[in-house]
Amino acid sequence: MPILAAYGPGRDLSLPTTGGGAARGFPALPMPPLEWNAEVERDTAHLYDRIKTVVPAVEWPFFAPYVKAINALKKERGAVILAHNYQTPEIYNCVADFVGDSLALAREAAKTKASVIVQCGVHFMAETAKILNPDKVVLIPDRRAGCSLAQSITAEDVRLLRDTFPGVPVVTYVNTSADVKAESDICCTSSNAVQVVESLGSEKVIFLPDEYLAKYVASQTDVKIIAWKGHCEVHERFTADELRSYRATDPSLKIIAHPECPPDVIAEADFTGSTAHMIDWVRDKRPRRVVMVTECSMADNVQAELPDVQFVRPCNLCPHMKRITLPKILDSLVHMQEEVVVDPAIAAKARRAVERMIHLRS
Ligand code: SF4
Repeated sequence: MPILAAYGPGRDLSLPTTGGGAARGFPALPMPPLEWNAEVERDTAHLYDRIKTVVPAVEWPFFAPYVKAINALKKERGAVILAHNYQTPEIYNCVADFVGDSLALAREAAKTKASVIVQCGVHFMAETAKILNPDKVVLIPDRRAGCSLAQSITAEDVRLLRDTFPGVPVVTYVNTSADVKAESDICCTSSNAVQVVESLGSEKVIFLPDEYLAKYVASQTDVKIIAWKGHCEVHERFTADELRSYRATDPSLKIIAHPECPPDVIAEADFTGSTAHMIDWVRDKRPRRVVMVTECSMADNVQAELPDVQFVRPCNLCPHMKRITLPKILDSLVHMQEEVVVDPAIAAKARRAVERMIHLRS
């Protein structure tokens, strides 16, 4: 079913901000020593083993002291580290307690018993963790880690769309601010977007803010979709021409794409799915050579797990995800910064939309 209409952002929007300062009740701790020595080498050898196919040995002495310090400090702080699939291999494989796509991280955030959550991802993910855990301390190692999709739409835009299409339910991608989630009936991720849209039993749905994900959902369902013209700045850069040129050099190459890509890119793919579904597809099919048409750190993370698969990497990095680094994670735990704050009234409304998604039967 083609989408009915796509409405667009009319202005630049600044990032939502966190509270700043150390979290209350958590004094700063001394910075641990960060030397590379025989003890650090021995204590971290099992972790380097996980990433040795994607991180050169010459780089490990720079990462290892941070890895050791972060793993010790997170225990001392009672913290859990959640890392998105787009985080770099040394974060994803060596300090994270849970890894996954936005849906998996939201589920983990909802059930964790830890009193402190460090979100290695972008701002909307940390906000989602806070929405689900209003009494816990949620930290993001760099408050500037934003998202072009989250920036593309405001709560006021959603209210205007509701006025324009009275009675039509609003589904928002989790890549949105807490304010936007609070104006929504239900959230979705790229893993469950079609299921969420169909769960509402409505002939028409307003689907925000990713235009290309909306088009992909529209191609998979009979529900009529009203979309917004938000785009992911990473996925919109891929082109069908570049994929055809990869395939021309190796016709046996498999191409798997994220649904935030433009439709002509998706048309070139052998499989389309969320980051979690893409990883599952590679684990299951074990192609000889594959292109993962998404943020390029994910190929490194899957390569570390599946060294026999050869990944062709058109490397589009997300500048926001890459703001999260080991030194910033350590700083975050030492100083208990930056604490994510969400207005309680907004959080209560946003929680309904996020929990409605989490509790959908899969
Ligand atoms: S990859 Fe795209 S959707 Fe994901 S955080 Fe970066 S800009 Fe946002």
